[in-house]
Parts: sequence; structure tokens; C-alpha cells
Amino acid sequence: VGWWDHVAPAAKDPINGVTEAFLADPSPYKINLGVGAYRDDKGRPVVLQCVREAEAKIAGSEFLESISASVSTKMVEESVKLVYGKDSDVVKEGRSAGVQALSGTGACRLFAEFQRRFHPESHIYFPDPTWSNHHNIWRDAQIPERTYHYYDPDSKSLDFAALMDDIKNAPDSSFFLLHPSAHNPTGVDPTEEQWREISYQFKVKGHFPFFDMAYQGFASGDLDKDAQAIRIFLEDEHLIGCAQSYAKSMGLYGHRVGCLSILCVDSKQAAAIRSQIQQIARAMYGSPPVHGILLVATILSDPNLKSLWIDEVKIMADRIQRKRTTLRQNLEKLGSSLNWEHITNQLGMFCFSGLTPYQVDRLAKEFHIYMTQDGRISMAGVTTGNVNYLANAIHEVTR
Ligand code: PLP
Repeated sequence: VGWWDHVAPAAKDPINGVTEAFLADPSPYKINLGVGAYRDDKGRPVVLQCVREAEAKIAGSEFLESISASVSTKMVEESVKLVYGKDSDVVKEGRSAGVQALSGTGACRLFAEFQRRFHPESHIYFPDPTWSNHHNIWRDAQIPERTYHYYDPDSKSLDFAALMDDIKNAPDSSFFLLHPSAHNPTGVDPTEEQWREISYQFKVKGHFPFFDMAYQGFASGDLDKDAQAIRIFLEDEHLIGCAQSYAKSMGLYGHRVGCLSILCVDSKQAAAIRSQIQQIARAMYGSPPVHGILLVATILSDPNLKSLWIDEVKIMADRIQRKRTTLRQNLEKLGSSLNWEHITNQLGMFCFSGLTPYQVDRLAKEFHIYMTQDGRISMAGVTTGNVNYLANAIHEVTR
């Protein structure tokens, strides 16, 4: 008795809270634009064909034991090539300390813990705004956060000048979290030229770039193009950290497959860093689930399955892009006096609509349309069947 009397309920997660409200709504017209999970044009969750074929290929081959070292090494090697480039020197020279992680969240969490152990006095700089869970992850690792300017609500685009000022004004050798493509929640990414300037300034200041790559392929439909920011930093010879997730790009949300990699000066340093991260992981959760890693390793090491996957990523990205165009056109056709260009200028899974919390509430109460309070629309939830209804509702609450 009395052990837990002081425990109050935790604050609601802003994203999971939206799903709860959606599920509780009995309306047949309801739309969930909260969670960033891909849906097809009928609003159904998708199992990629490459995943189905990989499932068939591995059926029966799997033992219910820990993953074999060779499968895990393969998954990590192929993941590293996806971000740094298949012909990159980093890959050839074995200069990356890569480990499998529990999806993107787990990769971030491992990195945060590693940062605390080896740079206990450091901070982490997040873009303002960022994915809400970044705050929780670094807080739990006891790394204090700071923010850098990113999004300008007036122009609904990047506040590049303010971002560069913050990079310049941060203490030398600070840790920065960057979204390399399809920024969540804003859908706003720096241009190639801007990335070059950011990379240059990071070099001048000696900052550490940690890239959280949760949506590779979703911005442009092309995996290499979406890694452009990282490749620019590589050219400038930064030592980079990177969290990768296969939740979105392979639709493996529930399997929790990801990779954390840290670039090192040589293979000896890579071995030391890898062993430290593995030790952190071992104390946190032992080893990761086997099945998803086997799926990813199978897809990435089979040329036919890999090319099927590349095609399927493009199909997903293109469908979202088309819905952006239709949503904007419909709002314009309805005679909305507001400017909706940002819907098509922004990239990836999300549209940072500019809707106010009051308008978001009205969409939920009057139209059964659910999204996070910040007005972020998960474009993956927009379909041919609901886009007119959505445009009408947005028009009504913004008149
Ligand atoms: N990073 C960002 C920016 C995200 O948006 C997400 C998912 O929403 C993640 C990481 C982690 O996703 P997961 O742990 O499902 O791979």
C-alpha cells in the first residue's frame, strides 16, 4: 500500500491522442489524418509486394533464436549503403559503426544514450518544430535540449537566415539533430544549395550532425536523392550520426527495424564505438526481434526484390504528391481566398497546413476529421474518395 500513490497519469501523446479520438467517433465520414502511416488510395494499410515476396523466401528458414551475426551484419551493411551511397569510401573502408536498432525511435534512443555517456555535458539542438518524440527521447537520456529556428509560419517555408544565425551562435562543437528529407511535421526541407551552406557552417563551428532519416524516399520518390543532404556532409568530410527506419519506407511499422550508424576516423574506432553501442542495447532490450531484420536483409541483398522495393517507394511517394495537387486544386476551385501553394511546395508524408488549433477542433467536431493540434495533415490519409470532403471542410473552417 502507498507505493504508487504519487503516480499521476502521464501527459497524453499528441499523436496517439488523435487516433484515440478518431476511433471513438462513430461517424461513417470520419478521416484520420493524424498518424504518419502510409495508406493506399482506398485508405487501407499496405503490405509491399517486396515484403510479401521476402516473406515467402524466408518462410521456414528462420530459427526462433537470436539473429545470426551474418544476417544482422548484412542488414547493417546494406542500410549504411542506402544513406552514404553504395560506392562511398566510408563503406569501403569500414569506417561506419553500424548497429541494428528498434526502428527509428530505437536508433535515436541508442544515440542519445551514447551521447550522454561519452559527452555528458553536451546538449542537443532540435529544429523548431520537430517530431514530438525527439523531446522525450533525449530527455530520458538526460541530455538537455535547445532549439534552432527552422520554420517560418508566415511564409510557411524555411526560415533559412534565422537557422544559419542559430548555427553560428551555438557554442562550438554542439550536437544538432537534422531531418535529412521530408521534415516532420512541416514538410519543409532546405534546398541543395542551402544544405551546402549548412554543411560549410557546421565545419566552421565543429558541430556534430545527427541525421534522423525516417522517411527516405518519401520526399522525392528516389532513395538517393532523399539522401542528398547526407552526401553533401560526407563530401565535406563530416563525421556523421544517422538513425534509419524501415517503418515507413518498407511499411514495417510493427516490426521495428532500423539502423544506427556513426562515422569514424578509421575501422578501429568504428569497432570500439560499435561495441559500446551494442553494450547499451544489450542492457536496454537484449537483442532486437528477428523477423523484421531478416525481411530487410532479404530485400536489400536480392537485386530483384530491391528494385521492386525502389519502384514501390516511388509509387507511394507519387500517390501522396498527387493528393497534394488535388487538395490544393479543390480548395482553389471552392474559391478559397487563402494561398494554398504550400500544400504542393511541401514534401513527404506531411502537410503543415497552417490551420489554427481552433480550426483543427472545428474539423474534428463538425466534420469528423482528425489531425494534430499543430495543423499537421498526414497526406497518406488523403484519398480520391475523401479529398473533396476534406477540401470542403477546410474551406468551411477557414472562410
Ligand atoms: N523520426 C521521425 C522524424 C519520425 O517522424 C518518426 C516516426 O514518426 C521516427 C523517427 C520513428 O519512427 P519509427 O520508430 O516508427 O521508425
